[in-house]
Amino acid sequence: MRVLVTGAAGFIGFHVCERLLGRGDRVVGVDHFASSLDVNAGRARLARLLGTRGFLFQPVDITDGPALRELFAHEQPQAVVHLAARVGVRDAGSEPRRYTDTNVTGFLQVLEACREARVAHLVYASSSSVYGAGTPPFREDAAADRPLNLYGATKRANELMAHAASYQQGLPTSGLRFFTVYGPWGRPDMAPLLFLRAMAEGRPLVLHGEGGMRRDFTFVDDVAEAVLRVLDRPPTGAPPHRVLNVGFGRAVALRDFVTLLEQGLGVSARRESRPAQVGEMDATWADTSALERETGFRPQVPVEEGVARLVAWHRALRAG
Ligand code: NAD
Repeated sequence: MRVLVTGAAGFIGFHVCERLLGRGDRVVGVDHFASSLDVNAGRARLARLLGTRGFLFQPVDITDGPALRELFAHEQPQAVVHLAARVGVRDAGSEPRRYTDTNVTGFLQVLEACREARVAHLVYASSSSVYGAGTPPFREDAAADRPLNLYGATKRANELMAHAASYQQGLPTSGLRFFTVYGPWGRPDMAPLLFLRAMAEGRPLVLHGEGGMRRDFTFVDDVAEAVLRVLDRPPTGAPPHRVLNVGFGRAVALRDFVTLLEQGLGVSARRESRPAQVGEMDATWADTSALERETGFRPQVPVEEGVARLVAWHRALRAG
């Protein structure tokens, strides 16, 4: 299969590309480093992909409609995994335009390009943030109309736009609501890697609200597996559209995640306490029954094992 992946140099994109290439698909990876939150992390991931047979990199900004459409027309992808986005909930208040440009206007360009190129299936990243002020565990049919930050609002907007494209144009679309993804080659701005690096280097780590916030930590290998399983099974309903949770299905307090890191690294964390942050959800975890029903798969890696694998990756990287 010829698959176009946006955000290919990003954390999840990198893992999805590796898996697609591993099973023999051809991958056109799209990314734009000027839009990246961490260029070094992106370049390191891309360097690994560039050495792999079947991978082609295209440095295109998804908000550039003509360039994107030209790329689709030239490459004729059969399926698209759209992961490029302005990510993270905290900056959304201070840089709102960046979020709407990439996540809303950019998403519209992706939909248009898919329609013109007659793509057979668009799988795109949504987020658990769409559940906002709701009560977990979250099921896909719960109301998702009270986001707590602009990032969550842009992701919900994507789901609504995709539904309209599926209805009006018959474009098969699947939105994946990812829950706190962590693992090797992870995002340097997210707690798992921020904490791991601080602890490994003897620096203090900042815990908001005493680390009582609970998250559904989902190992990236499980996320990549879920993306491929969904990609291979386009929705068949009318309209051909669906949203699915991708989470492990268990709430773990951030302070317990830190304890697991302490055990893995064999160090004691120096904690700095700060007040809880506005715009962050207290607790999120997924009901994964719809994913299991549609794909026969549910995430397999419990956080104890995932943290051990994360620490092992970090050790191996440092050892060179
Ligand atoms: P990431 O920041 O590592 O990857 C996003 C990639 O998109 C980056 O490489 C960035 O350079 C690229 N990008 C940004 N703007 C672009 C543009 N205009 N044109 C082309 N490329 C652009 O993030 P990630 O954690 O891999 O997230 C992937 C997707 O999953 C995102 O849509 C994100 O919102 C969603 N998501 C992630 C998580 C998580 O826990 N990591 C949770 C929920 C949802």
